[in-house]
Amino acid sequence: MIPFNELNAPRQLFINGEYCDAASGKQFDNINPATGASLGGVAEGGAEDIGRAVAAARRAMDDGKWANMGSHQREGILHKLADLVEQNAKNLALLETYDTGKPYRDALAVDIPLSVQTLRYYAGWPTKLRGETNPVAGNFLTYTRREPIGVIGQIVPWNFPLFMAAMKLAPALAAGNTVVLKPAEQTPLTALYLGQLMNEAGIPAGVVNFVSGFGGDAGQALISHPDVDKIAFTGSTGTGQHIMRTAADSLKRVSLELGGKSPHIIFADADLKSAMRAIGAAIFYNQGEVCIAGSRLFVEESIYDQAVEAAKTAAEKMRVGDPFDEKTRVGALVSAEHFDRVCKYVELGVSEGAEIAAGGAPIDTDGKGFFYPPTVLTGVNNQMRVVREEIFGPVLSIIPFSSQEELIAQANDTQYGLAAGLWTRDVGKAHTVAHAIKAGTVYINAYGLLDASAPFGGFKMSGIGRENGEDGIKMYTEAKTVWTSLS
Ligand code: NAP
Ligand code: MG
Repeated sequence: MIPFNELNAPRQLFINGEYCDAASGKQFDNINPATGASLGGVAEGGAEDIGRAVAAARRAMDDGKWANMGSHQREGILHKLADLVEQNAKNLALLETYDTGKPYRDALAVDIPLSVQTLRYYAGWPTKLRGETNPVAGNFLTYTRREPIGVIGQIVPWNFPLFMAAMKLAPALAAGNTVVLKPAEQTPLTALYLGQLMNEAGIPAGVVNFVSGFGGDAGQALISHPDVDKIAFTGSTGTGQHIMRTAADSLKRVSLELGGKSPHIIFADADLKSAMRAIGAAIFYNQGEVCIAGSRLFVEESIYDQAVEAAKTAAEKMRVGDPFDEKTRVGALVSAEHFDRVCKYVELGVSEGAEIAAGGAPIDTDGKGFFYPPTVLTGVNNQMRVVREEIFGPVLSIIPFSSQEELIAQANDTQYGLAAGLWTRDVGKAHTVAHAIKAGTVYINAYGLLDASAPFGGFKMSGIGRENGEDGIKMYTEAKTVWTSLS
């Protein structure tokens, strides 16, 4: 472990290729959630800084240096960016750990490699993004072009800060857009660090800008700025709704990746050894701060007791504590505020009649770190708030079911539709249930996988649009149809 101060992490805004203070000169305190102590001040961007960043992005869009750059050259630069992130993996993983409280081993093994994979995947797209010729009536040549949308405002959450930023930056840049990105106030460091890598990779000044600050101030200024053409957002459903309403004024394009309360289903005919083993990671990984967490575990009645036992064992086995300890599997929750939210949800569950099979009480650190142990709730049903609302913490609810019809109805009885998982050896049943579940991603005999080439996003109130894959880059383009008379 390297002490934070030795990492020399940039803590200023990155606008038009340069680090700078906020116009107001203000900074906010960045807290390490594993100790409760301050990591120091970070520039607190506001409306004026967003204005400067959007102006820089607009100039960089309109001068055409990026959008009209040869596609092979743009690919080369984006590949260099991916290489640089990979070369800086250790620093980035350390910063991510200090900022989020997640286990360092996970930051290094998962967050950074997934970010690199995403950057590399989209680095290959500038030479593949193409239009089509259209077989129209009459004597015309008609074809489409995929043009960049323009200036994109991107707002990301705190659970996978670098990876979420990479999922947004990579396709936007590959398609030739320019960007102003606001990281979450709890976790600004890895985004700000990327600034220097943008310069080193050769991305022209103004093409990517990072403005740290608060959602209600910098975020609000970004989503309401008239010169921003699209907002891409990942975060809570409530903020997503607010963004969509605000965007309506100027008809900005929006893509939204929002919350979830994903059903994780085990049928009695599954490979039970594998299924039972998957329960813990599906909900407790990353402290349960995962939008696709399998937070509602539905198990067929005959194996209910076995599943409760497996969940309990997994919960008790996962070591909670210092994110830099190799043996730690569950680190700190991201903030005091979020910690309180998780505590209150478990209390609410108990008041609704839930029983605690594991965990259930915060770890007392006297304010020096925000740790909550993996928790398993039984005696719950799909109507309780603790089962309906997203907790975004390490809290699992287990619910028995007796028939496939009842299971499908319950799994879909939610405002969300981000992901689902199911375990069975019956291939017909597997696909029938996968098709019946209203969710953007369904895992069969697996859980929680993500890949830059596979579309990802939500049905219903879990979002609009799909990131990753070809869908992910198309979301950052406008189709233009060109007609030419041949007569
Ligand atoms: P949040 O409050 O919605 O914050 C997400 C981002 O939006 C932050 O950068 C936040 O800034 C910003 N923001 C807040 N208010 C804003 C406003 N009025 N205008 C513009 N931006 C604003 O969500 P959170 O509670 O921090 O994050 C957890 C939630 O994100 C969970 O509900 C989870 O499901 C969801 N999530 C979804 C996915 C997915 O892929 N679908 C992935 C990760 C997380 P500040 O931090 O500065 O307030
Ligand atoms: Mg922090």
